[in-house]
Amino acid sequence: MILFFFISLAFLTWLICRELERRTVQPSLPGGRCGDCGGEIQSDWLICPRCRNLVQQHCPACGEAHACSDAYCPWCGDAVREKAA
Ligand SMILES: [Zn+2]
Ligand SMILES: [Zn+2]
Repeated sequence: MILFFFISLAFLTWLICRELERRTVQPSLPGGRCGDCGGEIQSDWLICPRCRNLVQQHCPACGEAHACSDAYCPWCGDAVREKAA
């Protein structure tokens, strides 16, 4: 019984380790770098912390975050670029 407990524990630990590993090796999203200063941007950041460049915005229609360079929302297809760059 104790052996079973230890095996379960080891399995759980292995699962957690694998999950953590999977998260750290996750490829960075396109647009993972600031177009202005080249600094790394995490996928959920909206503004570059180095130069304050706006790197992502929220779609006014569905509220999902997407790259500022997108003309259309990748989630709902709504036109999100209000003014041409
Ligand atoms: Zn920047
Ligand atoms: Zn949208």
